[in-house]
Amino acid sequence: MRALVITGQKEASIEDVAPPEAAPGLVVIDIQRVGICGTDMGLFQGAPERLQRLNAEYPLRIGHEWAGVVTEVGDGVDPAWLGRRATGDTMLGCGSCARCLDGRHFLCATRHEVGVRGGWPGAIAERMPLPATALRALPDTVDFTLGALVEPGGNAVRAVDAARLVAGGPLLVIGAGTIGLLAALFAVARGIDVHVLGRSAQSLDLARSLGLAGAWDASTLPPLSWGAVIDASDAPSIPSRAIELVEPGRTVVLIGISHEASLTDTRSIVRKEVTAAGILGGSLGLDAAIAAYADGSVDPTPLVAATVPLGRAADALAGWRPVHAGSGPKLHIDPTA
Ligand SMILES: [Zn+2]
Ligand SMILES: [Zn+2]
Repeated sequence: MRALVITGQKEASIEDVAPPEAAPGLVVIDIQRVGICGTDMGLFQGAPERLQRLNAEYPLRIGHEWAGVVTEVGDGVDPAWLGRRATGDTMLGCGSCARCLDGRHFLCATRHEVGVRGGWPGAIAERMPLPATALRALPDTVDFTLGALVEPGGNAVRAVDAARLVAGGPLLVIGAGTIGLLAALFAVARGIDVHVLGRSAQSLDLARSLGLAGAWDASTLPPLSWGAVIDASDAPSIPSRAIELVEPGRTVVLIGISHEASLTDTRSIVRKEVTAAGILGGSLGLDAAIAAYADGSVDPTPLVAATVPLGRAADALAGWRPVHAGSGPKLHIDPTA
């Protein structure tokens, strides 16, 4: 089968690789759609310390925002999965440590992360193996495009949950990329007064077109009493800015990760009694994301700028976009094309 393989720093190509097998407990999925995210770009850029921290090494098969069809099941897997449309959890815990046993499998010290950590092959490929326990069935109303947005959606749901907003907000989301806009959409669906702080006019226009009236840049941000702030940016200065902006006694959610250390004077957290909440993964938000896409309360389809064939995946990682691409931050790949 064909799969994207990152063979070295900024080197990737489509290769013929051995297809996955449905070992006991596993299923094989025919991938129909897969998104590229910042983590994927980082793995392609390949800063050595970043790869080391992610327990990743070349050659690397990436892709963790996907939707597809279950086409094979291994021993011990319910055969009812065959033919079902699905997405799944990126975080694959060992299943036996204390963290896995108390519901923190996404923080398991020896976990695999699909297409990221520990060599688990990713979804930018025609087929992919996955433990059946990590599958999530997609309802008919969630198409493959939406299905491939469940993983980032799960992250966004968790960020909104962690904000613990009282009295409807207002919520400030910093960063108008995929996670920031998704978090804003989930918050709107909950009736929260949401504002987005972004940098480019294009991302702010997209935010407004999604119905987010409060879309600002640093020079126009109104001085509201922010009931919570979500940092979905990758700028090292933003976490401390978020702590400055948030109302005392409220929560700052940190979901963006900057490429260099982000420093904060923790005395400001004490003096304002701010709660700082870190969110690493979307596992606990997947079901809520699927439900919101299925009932239409959140429609993130405009975030996808274009869908390109597998043969262009390496170009996409290197920053290429088709001329007809929309203004959304997300590029999708169709491995069947
Ligand atoms: Zn991602
Ligand atoms: Zn574990």
